[in-house]
Amino acid sequence: MTVRVRVAVAATMVCATALVTAGANETNGAYTPQAALGLLKAGNDRFVRNASVPVSLSVNRRQELAAGQRPVAMVLSCADSRVPPEHVFNAGLGELFVIRTAGEVVDKSILATLEYGAEQLNTPLLVVMGHESCGAVTAAAKAKDDATSTNMAYLLKAIRTARQQPREEREEIKYLVLANVEQVINDAMAGSPVLQLLVDTGRLGVVGAYYELVSGRVMFSEMVRSDSSAPRSGRR
Ligand SMILES: [Zn+2]
Repeated sequence: MTVRVRVAVAATMVCATALVTAGANETNGAYTPQAALGLLKAGNDRFVRNASVPVSLSVNRRQELAAGQRPVAMVLSCADSRVPPEHVFNAGLGELFVIRTAGEVVDKSILATLEYGAEQLNTPLLVVMGHESCGAVTAAAKAKDDATSTNMAYLLKAIRTARQQPREEREEIKYLVLANVEQVINDAMAGSPVLQLLVDTGRLGVVGAYYELVSGRVMFSEMVRSDSSAPRSGRR
C-alpha cells in the first residue's frame, strides 16, 4: 500500500475561500475532508492578511468542550516555535488535533496518536506540514554521522531519507522539506493499516503542506490518493 503525494508549490498556491462565514470557533460539526481543508485554507488566508479573528479561550468555551472534542483536522507539523498550527490556521480550542516533532517525522507513538484522532475522534483530515528554513531538515541534509545522541541520530536518519529524491531537487532546503513531507506521508500510510483504510474508504483525507515563515502562507498538495500500483517514492 503506497501513497503518492507531491507538494507542488507553484501549482497549489492556495486561493482560500471561506466555507463558513463564522469565525474559526464554529467548527464542531461533521466535515468532509475537502470541507475541513477549506476551513484551514480560510483560516490561513485570514492569518496571511493579518485578519485573524479572535478565538474564544473563555470559560464558556472550555465548558462547551469539556464534554468531548471533535477536531476539524489533525496537523502533524514541525516543533519549530515559528510554526504554531493554531495561529497559522486561526483556529481555537478543540479545533485542531496537533502533533509536533522536529521535521514532523513519525514513529509508532505518532502513528498511534494519528490513528486515535482519525478513528476515535473521526477527524476528517490530516495535514502534514513542513516549513521554510526547517532546522531539522537542514541538519539532516548536512549531517554525516555526528549526531549528538542515539535519539538525534534516529531523527536525522528519518529525515535524511528524503535525500533520495532526484539530484536537482536536493539542492535546495525547500525541496528537501517538500520531499520530507512526502516521505512522512508515505511512512504514515505504510506504517498504519488503520490510516490507510480510512483513506481508502474516504473517511480521512491527507494533504501535504508547506509553510512560509514571513508571508505566513500555507501551500497545500493535492489530496492524497491511494494507489497500490504506484511506485514507491523516496521510501527507505
Ligand atoms: Zn522545522
